[in-house]
Amino acid sequence: MVIPTGIFFYYQQGERLRDFPQALGSILEKDSVFLYDAFYPSKPKSSFDLEPIPVETLHKVHLPEMVDRVRATGNYEGALYSAAGTLAAAVRIWSGEIINAFVFTGYGDHHAGSNFFGGGCYFNGAAIAIHELQERLGAKRFAIIDTDPHHGDGTWELFENNLAVLYICFCSGSFQEKNQNVNIHVPFRVKDSSYFALAKDCFQRWVKVFQPEIIFWNWGYDGTIGEYGDTGLRPDLHLQMAGEIKKLANVVCSGRLIIILCGGSRRDYANFLIPRIITILADKYTTQSFDDV
Ligand SMILES: [Zn+2]
Ligand SMILES: [Zn+2]
Repeated sequence: MVIPTGIFFYYQQGERLRDFPQALGSILEKDSVFLYDAFYPSKPKSSFDLEPIPVETLHKVHLPEMVDRVRATGNYEGALYSAAGTLAAAVRIWSGEIINAFVFTGYGDHHAGSNFFGGGCYFNGAAIAIHELQERLGAKRFAIIDTDPHHGDGTWELFENNLAVLYICFCSGSFQEKNQNVNIHVPFRVKDSSYFALAKDCFQRWVKVFQPEIIFWNWGYDGTIGEYGDTGLRPDLHLQMAGEIKKLANVVCSGRLIIILCGGSRRDYANFLIPRIITILADKYTTQSFDDV
């Protein structure tokens, strides 16, 4: 039996995902893919709807006053559903219902710490999911690979004293290592091949040694050419990375992998990359280039 890939979809506003879920096309017909979508008023409720995260669960990671501040922004619901997708994916992967997952988010999570948020992030979905897996389901070792080009200050703070979580942040900041938090310096205008070599080396040195039971990949494409965090990376690199991280998850943790959509604004990149990354999760590596479509 094929254990499917889960796609967690929340119907958010905004430009970059305007063509989804339609842009997933025939992927949704595959036996190896299952779509979980968020409850929205015009659709009959089903058992696969995403439920918002209870406030007590949020308080395990974020201080109550911070949760109140997020509520006051007017983006509370979107923030809640974004984190809910990550939590639902993690729980279903841990129970064996799905093998891996792609989580569409309206807001990212790596700039959300215990009592601060910003940069389009409100709640730290990965941290909430890790807390739940640890407390309720007995999981012990986790890795977060963060390739959004901005420093994940929230995730760093939440795990800087936690030895159960290996957090690897690829950003422009200098190299740092503290209690299984590792900051990898990515040079400005890095070539795809150098970035990929750096990532592979880092997976070898930290992830394979640490042996997590599940991997979270904070995937942002805002470092791609022409994006707001442009570091000179080509779109195709993301597909290469997806293939490599899937392989890594197969080797270290029986394939358990959650991809969380983080930064990135361009609709053409989303339309090209997301369906292909999901296909890599569900199926196999694709060699088609962004330049060919
Ligand atoms: Zn960083
Ligand atoms: Zn970013």
